[in-house]
Parts: sequence; structure tokens; C-alpha cells
Amino acid sequence: MPICAKCSNDVKKVYDCDHTNLEEYCVECYTELHYYLTEKNTEDVNC
Ligand SMILES: [Zn+2]
Ligand SMILES: [Zn+2]
Repeated sequence: MPICAKCSNDVKKVYDCDHTNLEEYCVECYTELHYYLTEKNTEDVNC
């Protein structure tokens, strides 16, 4: 199974985008990352 680059958990599915520096994150870390990005910036994060 893939491993999240942030929390090192084995997960069924990982996600990456420019914001993760193309590292693979689990859905929780990925969502959290984009949550902070959305809070910090007023622009929308569409990924
Ligand atoms: Zn994670
Ligand atoms: Zn992103």
C-alpha cells in the first residue's frame, strides 16, 4: 500500500498536487494542507 509522505501511514489511496510538492499524501493530510492554504489565501484552491 502507498505511504503518506507526511504522516507515514499506510493508506489505500494517496493524493498529490503542486501544493504537496508532488509527494503523496493521504486524504487527511491532503485535505488539511488545502484547508490551511484556503485559510491563508483568499484565492480558491482547486485541487
Ligand atoms: Zn497522511
Ligand atoms: Zn493542491
